[in-house]
Amino acid sequence: MRLGIHTSIAGALENAAHEAYKLGANTFQIFSSSPRQWKASVPSVPGIAAFQRAREKYELAPLVIHDNYLINLASAHENVRALSVEAFRGELTRAIAIGADYLVAHPGNYKGATVEQGILSFIEGVAQAAAGLKFEKLMLLVENTVGAGAQLGSRFEELHVIREYGAKMTGLPIGFCLDTCHLLASGYDVATPEGLKKTVAEADRLLGLDHVPVMHANDSKGTLSSHIDRHANIGEGYIGLEGFRRILAHPRLRSKAFILETPVDQPGDDRRNLDTLKSLCPKSRTTTIKSS
Ligand SMILES: [Zn+2]
Ligand SMILES: [Zn+2]
Repeated sequence: MRLGIHTSIAGALENAAHEAYKLGANTFQIFSSSPRQWKASVPSVPGIAAFQRAREKYELAPLVIHDNYLINLASAHENVRALSVEAFRGELTRAIAIGADYLVAHPGNYKGATVEQGILSFIEGVAQAAAGLKFEKLMLLVENTVGAGAQLGSRFEELHVIREYGAKMTGLPIGFCLDTCHLLASGYDVATPEGLKKTVAEADRLLGLDHVPVMHANDSKGTLSSHIDRHANIGEGYIGLEGFRRILAHPRLRSKAFILETPVDQPGDDRRNLDTLKSLCPKSRTTTIKSS
């Protein structure tokens, strides 16, 4: 299975790969620049080469980049949207240069507009940002959200529409990243056997599970339908150890890359969460494949 974690590029891009390997991951996620600043740093050519060598040596795949938190392509405010388009173009350009497989983006917040306008604004923003760029293998993954206020993308129906029209309007391959914490907090009960079964079936019907290569593995400090986006250590939230055991063993989810975005409150929390995920994975020889 592909199990990984978000690591830091502080100091040098390649440090993220070293850290992922040291923690025992075989896939990872990074920010390609500071996630809370509009002004982005541009990775150097030797820096990228060193990063790629480290990735190959450790066989870290896929590489996922998460976009900047400030970007809001669904914004009803023209100035925010313009800044977001420019910043997102930088995200796409860096992702291509670094050789990422996936760029994960939150669809944004449509406060002051309607959900339809928000969806259109997001797709048009992606199209503007992507204009003229060549995407050899890069795929944009739109991440599901907890649906707090006017946050877009908490319902599979909204994500479905984004891909349906986005694929035609942007020239960029579009898929999805599903975050387990966001699923629970937005009302998809992935913590129970029945709820997981229903959620996976819904995701397959509306998104197509083939379009979901990456899952964010986060437990949730918020309860079902709380619309609270607070990640918990695996087993310490409302999904729980048994919830994650079922998610990791689900025959339709096992092929996905699971990437942790759990808090590091105590030194070693990152390794502990990764070890916990590993311990919950089904052992391949003893697994019986049941139909979902
Ligand atoms: Zn996430
Ligand atoms: Zn989150």
